[in-house]
Amino acid sequence: MIKLCLLFFLTFLISQTVLGQSPQTLEIRKYVNRNAGDIVKEFTGLLALPNVAADLIGQQKTATFIMAMMNKRGIQKVQLLNASTPGAPPAVYGEVMVPGAKRTLIFYAHYDGQPVNPAQWAKGLEPFLPKLFTNTVDNGGTNMSFPTDGHYNNEWRIYARSASDDKAGVDAILNAYDAIIKSGLRPGCNLKFFFEGEEEAGSPHLNEILEKHRSTLQSDLWIICDGPVHQSGKKQIVFGVRGDTHLDITVYGPKRPLHSGHYGNWAPNPAMMLAKLLASMKDDNGRVTIKGFYDDVTPLTPIERKALEEVPAVDEQMKDELGLSTTEMQGLTLSEAINQPSLNINGMQSGNVGKLASNQIPTYATAVLDLRLVLGNDWKRQQQKVIDHIKAQGYYITSSDPTDEERKKYAKLIKVVPDRDGYNAQRTSMDMPIIQQVITAVKTTTKDQIVLQPTMGGSLPLFLFEKYLDAKTVTVPIANHDNNQHAENENIRIGNLFEGIETMGALMMIK
Ligand SMILES: [Zn+2]
Repeated sequence: MIKLCLLFFLTFLISQTVLGQSPQTLEIRKYVNRNAGDIVKEFTGLLALPNVAADLIGQQKTATFIMAMMNKRGIQKVQLLNASTPGAPPAVYGEVMVPGAKRTLIFYAHYDGQPVNPAQWAKGLEPFLPKLFTNTVDNGGTNMSFPTDGHYNNEWRIYARSASDDKAGVDAILNAYDAIIKSGLRPGCNLKFFFEGEEEAGSPHLNEILEKHRSTLQSDLWIICDGPVHQSGKKQIVFGVRGDTHLDITVYGPKRPLHSGHYGNWAPNPAMMLAKLLASMKDDNGRVTIKGFYDDVTPLTPIERKALEEVPAVDEQMKDELGLSTTEMQGLTLSEAINQPSLNINGMQSGNVGKLASNQIPTYATAVLDLRLVLGNDWKRQQQKVIDHIKAQGYYITSSDPTDEERKKYAKLIKVVPDRDGYNAQRTSMDMPIIQQVITAVKTTTKDQIVLQPTMGGSLPLFLFEKYLDAKTVTVPIANHDNNQHAENENIRIGNLFEGIETMGALMMIK
């Protein structure tokens, strides 16, 4: 009886879900289901190509493979867009001009991936040998062969480097176009495709590519397909990114390591000094105590505030997943907290621990500080606030290792090396008519809530699109949140790949 009730309930749920989706979405879904075998086969071909920045040949093969995918689909002007710097990985470009279209959307994904250490991958997994699993490895998923009948389960996972980040983006975009054409549908706008080749290396030549190919890259909006959907599994649209900058700081003690018995209680210990300095930067609730740290923040608009209030709370789920009993910024949810600038210790080092531990007073202690920025913050000004705080703690600041004179003269000596290439946050207004069309389009693909995030926690150099093309961006991610991007065991959930095709398809039909 319970089973029967469950069946009715499930049928009810499915019919409700279908009602929330547009006929076009259902056409695309039919196409994807009919062609799942071919879609996955082509995708695993792409995943099998090494795409780490250092592997130029692998990168070239990957770009060539993507160009072939585009040519096969009849996309026009397929070409590589080179930077002015010779040898920099090019972007892959193509376009489809639609007669009578009033708007042009440009779809972005990146084909390069993070470096890999195959030894860290779970047994049976290899970064560039895509494998199908019944579930995540952590949840007891087992390896299975790719089905010959083309029937795929949404919960299955494909494991490979860039399965999620971001070859899934490339694949979903190109298959969405394919699905539209082959289902007898029609794109509503002109489409441009831009696949970057060095995003994971920090996009060092993206500015050159954008500047050099300015006229080719004109559009009404960039759709960035990168990153995960919301932790709740719901689709999300992200309107901005945080900026990012760093400071390396090093505190100095005696010129040579000292015996902690002979000199302990007498010689100042730089590890202790660094600990005190860092501790002075935050209170017990995790709020930064540096003067003016939160002063420049541009407040969220009413529409952004409302969107933020509607973001499903994942705090308890994430605390559970991560083994945390408490969080910083007490009183703020995760979504609220990432809309504030942050100060994080990326790492610190002094002396030795573990097997190398010895009774000594170390000569220095060092830390890397990571400052994430939100709209209104200027990265240099934010660095300066930290530097001013260090000075206010009585430190004498140098930009290189201290001289003997400096050592003798100043009790508190610190070397501060600020990043020279930080960047500011970017946020696109939700009020813009084209953005409202994007939200409506994504809503036609699901009956579920669409999560609207004013900003994502991470950083991408999206300001470059504004700076060089005067263009707006919006991020529409498709990957599952537990995809292990940037780490070992990267995977994509089949359902996310297939639903990603529907999402991209809906966007391509915007008029
Ligand atoms: Zn990415």
